[in-house]
Amino acid sequence: MKFNTKAIHAGQSPEPVSGAVMPPVFQTSTYVQEAPNKHKGYDYARVGNPTRTALEKLIAGLESADECACFASGCAAMDAIMKGLSPGDHVIATNDLYGGSYRLFTQVFKPFGIDFEFVDMTDPDNVRDAVTDKTRLIWIETPTNPLLRLVDIAEIASIAGEEIFTVVDNTFASPYLQRPLELGADVVMHSTTKYLGGHSDVIGGAVATSDASFMEKIRFQVKTSGGVPGPMDCYLTLRGIKTLHVRVQRATENAKVIAQWLAEHPEVGQVYYPGLPDHPQHELAKKQMDDFGAMVSFTLKDDSIDSASSFMSRTRIFALAESLGGVESLISQPASMTHGSIPKEVREKSGLKDSLIRLSVGIEEAEDLIEDLEQAF
Ligand SMILES: *Cc1c(COP(=O)(O)O)cnc(C)c1O
Repeated sequence: MKFNTKAIHAGQSPEPVSGAVMPPVFQTSTYVQEAPNKHKGYDYARVGNPTRTALEKLIAGLESADECACFASGCAAMDAIMKGLSPGDHVIATNDLYGGSYRLFTQVFKPFGIDFEFVDMTDPDNVRDAVTDKTRLIWIETPTNPLLRLVDIAEIASIAGEEIFTVVDNTFASPYLQRPLELGADVVMHSTTKYLGGHSDVIGGAVATSDASFMEKIRFQVKTSGGVPGPMDCYLTLRGIKTLHVRVQRATENAKVIAQWLAEHPEVGQVYYPGLPDHPQHELAKKQMDDFGAMVSFTLKDDSIDSASSFMSRTRIFALAESLGGVESLISQPASMTHGSIPKEVREKSGLKDSLIRLSVGIEEAEDLIEDLEQAF
C-alpha cells in the first residue's frame, strides 16, 4: 500500500463481533480467561488493549516498522527507551532538541549514571568524534525544534553501525514527510500529541521499530512501568491519524507561502524553514524528506524580547500556546515556553535566542494567516 492508503487501512480490520468499521473503545481493565493463562491474547489492560493494538498497528504501518508500542505521552515513550540503558552507558543527542527531552535526560537519567553528550549533528563528524566504547544510543531530532536544522539520518545511522542504536524523534516531521527506518535508523519515537493526533485534544506517545530485541525491552517497560494510554486516547489518536496525509499536506502548503512571505517582509530578521532555498540544508531536506513541513521559526529585525513578546500577543488567529501539529495555527516563544527547562547559556550556545518566534502552521486559509501576521507587525 502507498502511504495515503496506509494512513487509513494499515493493520486495521473490522471488529469481528459487530463488523464495526472503527475499533470500539475497549473500556476494560481485565479480560476473562477460559482456564488459567488460557485467553484470547489479552490478560490485563496495562499490558494490552485491543483499541491500543489497532493504534499500534497503524503507526507501525506508517513508519515501515514491524511493531509499535504506544504510551501515555511522548515523554513516557522516551522514558521507556531510556530505561533500557544501564548506568555507565553513553548517549549522544542532538544539541538543539525539545526542552522536555533535555530535562528528562539531564535531570532524571543523568543522576542514575547515564552519560549524555549534546552535539551539533548538522555536521556528522561531531557525532563520529563523540562516539566512545560506552556509546549505546544516538538520539536524533530532525528537523530540530525550534531551529529547523536537519540531521542526515542515513549518515548518522552508518556511523552508529551495528552496536549503537539510532533513535529518531520523528514528531516534527511526521511519517508522512519522513520515515527514519527506511533511512537506516533503528527506532522511531513520536509524541502522537502533535501531527499524528492532529487535533490538539489528546496526549500520547509511540515507539516503533523492526528490531525484535529492542521491542522486547520496550514491551517489558510497558508491562513493568505502565506508562500506557487509555483506550479513549488511543481511539482519538487513531481517528486523527486517518487524515494525517491530508492535514500535513495542506499545512505544508500554507507554511511554504508564509515562510516565503516572511522572508520578504521588511520587519523580519531571519526565517528558519528547510523549504527556503537559502536554508543551509535545503538539499538534505529535499533528499531526506518528502516535503518541508509546517513548522516555521523567525526573528524580528528589531531583535528584542519585548518586541517578540508583544508581536506574539497581537496575533488573533495564531493562538499563543505550546504544542504543534494541530489543525489550528499556533505561535510560541520557545525560550520561555517549550524550551524553558534548558538553561539560558545552553540555549544560546545552540543558537536559540530568547527573541525567536515559532509558528506551527495549521490548515486554515493561508491568506487569513498572512493577514493576521501582517496586523501583528
Ligand atoms: C511534544 C514533544 C515531545 C514530548 O511529547 P509529549 O506528548 O508532550 O509528552 C517530544 N519530542 C518532541 C519533538 C515534541 O514536540
